Amino acid sequence: LVNKSNEIIAQTNKLGAHNYLPLPVVVAKAEGVWVEDPEGNRYMDMLSAYSAVNQGHRHPKIIAALKKQADRVTLTSRAFHHDQLGPWYQEICRLTNKEMVLPMNTGAEAVETAFKAARRWAYHIKNVPEDQAEIIACIGNFHGRTMTAVSLSSEQEYKSGFGPMLPGIKLVPYGDQDALKKAITPYTAAFLIEPIQGEAGIVIPPAGFLQQAYELCKQNNLLFMADEIQTGLGRTGKMFACDWENVEPDVYILGKALGGGVFPISCVAANKDILGVFNPGSHGSTFGGNPLACAVSIASIEVLVEERLDERSLELGNYFLHELKKISNEKIKEIRGRGLFIGLELTVAARPYCEALKEEGLLCKETHEKVIRFAPPLIITKEQIDWALEKINQVFQQK
Ligand code: PLP
Repeated sequence: LVNKSNEIIAQTNKLGAHNYLPLPVVVAKAEGVWVEDPEGNRYMDMLSAYSAVNQGHRHPKIIAALKKQADRVTLTSRAFHHDQLGPWYQEICRLTNKEMVLPMNTGAEAVETAFKAARRWAYHIKNVPEDQAEIIACIGNFHGRTMTAVSLSSEQEYKSGFGPMLPGIKLVPYGDQDALKKAITPYTAAFLIEPIQGEAGIVIPPAGFLQQAYELCKQNNLLFMADEIQTGLGRTGKMFACDWENVEPDVYILGKALGGGVFPISCVAANKDILGVFNPGSHGSTFGGNPLACAVSIASIEVLVEERLDERSLELGNYFLHELKKISNEKIKEIRGRGLFIGLELTVAARPYCEALKEEGLLCKETHEKVIRFAPPLIITKEQIDWALEKINQVFQQK
């Protein structure tokens, strides 16, 4: 009998660049919260493709939209208009309460776009002298893997061997209001923040920080830009993680679940005084805002709203967190989360735990070595969470 998974893993390792270290599991099929390998073993997905699959794998409504649009038109480029873009803009404006949208494909591209918007806004609107604009970001951030995103990073591993980095970036400790205040100069264009740091290990800022940071931005005439790529669209129990402190950022950066885990699409949403700085020729993307992506994204947003996945995330997240906190094991340092965005921090490496959970049928991925992230699709049921808890308990009894 040929073990197909092993063959696939060997081929992947042989031919692909080794910029990831995946768990040794091959996904061949998926539905809802479940994925299946070629041998027919079933696993519960507790990662949701880093929150890109909030609506669950292959949500029927999203797949129907994909198929319908695939039979009409898939790509026009932005050289021509198409009939899905306007309706999609409308959805995003309604969702974010903003006046304008700029579509891209991936999260990192949306971050690039926000970065460019902030710099142009600084020169055109704030009158910062040419090439002097500064962007403040946070230590421990993750904004993607492009040169701008890694230049923003404080993580040596992300930057090593890729220099020179982009100038005009300042970093402050996450959640430190005084440090932010000190870092602001007349040349500061924007403060860029993840309202909860995802890749850093589900790090929640001190209560009131988002509000305080927003106020500082207003007092000093700079943009508050929220990277809600991972935290947005219901993941933390609210539509946006900034809603936890009633902060409406000047700039939303969205991606991942915007395409329902079916098709990549990302965007920046802001008012006209900010996104109005772009003119023809200043920015773009061949695939950004393509008909297939827009049709899929409209359905993906409708699913979030119709199925109240934000409320579901809050309710089930509270339950999940509460039950997880009952586990007593000296290796557990802290369990924290908002909605179905939960980090379990260990005093030891998390990888062996993720491997043990995999053996129990639960797919999780360690982040920042010592944190296990639990972020299932938001369509998960209480019964499925109970099933997961049983497996997690089992692993913590053994290890
Ligand atoms: N920003 C945040 C907060 C993210 O979590 C991620 C991806 O994990 C990104 C940006 C980058 O998105 P992408 O991988 O689609 O480029």
